[in-house]
Amino acid sequence: MAVASSRDLLNQARSAVREVDADEVEPRLGDVVLLDVREADEYEQGAIPGAVHVPRGMLEFQIEGRLPDKSAPVVVYCAAGARSVFGAKTLIDLGYQDVVSLTGGFNRWKDQGRPWRVPQALTPDQRNRYHRHLLLPEVADGGQLKLLDSKVLLLGAGGLGSPAALYLAAAGVGTIGVIDMDVVDASNLQRQILHSMDRVGERKVDSAKKTLTALNPDVDVVTYDVRLGADNILDIIDGYDLIVDGTDNFPTRYLVNDASLLKRIPVVHGSIFRFEGQVTVFDPYNGPCYRCMIPEPPPAELAPSCAEAGVLGVLPGIVGSIQAIEAIKVLLGLGDPLIGRLLAYDALEQSFRTFKVRRDPSCPACGPDAEGIVIAEYDEYCLPHAVRPAGE
Ligand SMILES: [Zn+2]
Repeated sequence: MAVASSRDLLNQARSAVREVDADEVEPRLGDVVLLDVREADEYEQGAIPGAVHVPRGMLEFQIEGRLPDKSAPVVVYCAAGARSVFGAKTLIDLGYQDVVSLTGGFNRWKDQGRPWRVPQALTPDQRNRYHRHLLLPEVADGGQLKLLDSKVLLLGAGGLGSPAALYLAAAGVGTIGVIDMDVVDASNLQRQILHSMDRVGERKVDSAKKTLTALNPDVDVVTYDVRLGADNILDIIDGYDLIVDGTDNFPTRYLVNDASLLKRIPVVHGSIFRFEGQVTVFDPYNGPCYRCMIPEPPPAELAPSCAEAGVLGVLPGIVGSIQAIEAIKVLLGLGDPLIGRLLAYDALEQSFRTFKVRRDPSCPACGPDAEGIVIAEYDEYCLPHAVRPAGE
């Protein structure tokens, strides 16, 4: 028997596959599955919007996982229209019932001025770096791209902000904002693991940026070396998907709460004191807010976090890491975030407890009768006092 040439093989495949023109396919975009069987480097240069990408060589192994419905109409395309004929033949052999091949492939499609775009895709380096995420079907490429596209603002580059920032950067959250107006002091290093001895005296935000960028150059670290106040908070938080609150005082927490409600940005709240920590998630109008949980700041003499309090060194590492994992869950819509639940950790007992936190129907900030939210300034004694907006 004579050995078949590649042309013979192509002709053989052609006899089994219907080929269609772009004119026939374009009006059906959205109704048919477009299957791009080119190599990854070709696909990354540009593809038909919404196309499923499985390289020709991987079809037999991956297609049934990617396209489980064998009765759905599929248009296979490659660069010029030959590989797609072989690809379509493979699908037909696998039992797909309605498969055609696009004549002229992507190149002719593009030359004719039909819709295409550069698909969002992980680079080979990113595929390697985030490999353990890609192995989780709940995260996979789509989740990782979402994280890379996410913007998280960290309030404070201290005890809680340090572990949260490190883990969010490592996980590939693409934009991390860090706000802190302090400089690194040697007494911070007992727990603030973003910083190191050679950074003592440096602005904390600059030290944070160095550490996070060294860990993961994918991350864009945006620094705010300012005091968060009523005058700047709305501008600063604007555009962020989520806030990780690691602040240590009541005035800022109320300010953050009210501003995040106005902007409808979820807040992952964490706090620590001595040997204990707490984490909860405030999802604006979908769960309780900080004022629902703590309607009034305690009097200054009973508000230990307003003064310097002792804290065991590792404790913020645990609480800040829980904040980071809650942040990722909220960003990816995974599992049950701590919305309406307060997780309390006791390091001495080595115990975790959760408490229900309910929305307060009479909450002055998020309740149905709440008046328009006023972003107010608070004094150093934790006493709230409204500030007249500039110009009044
Ligand atoms: Zn509330």
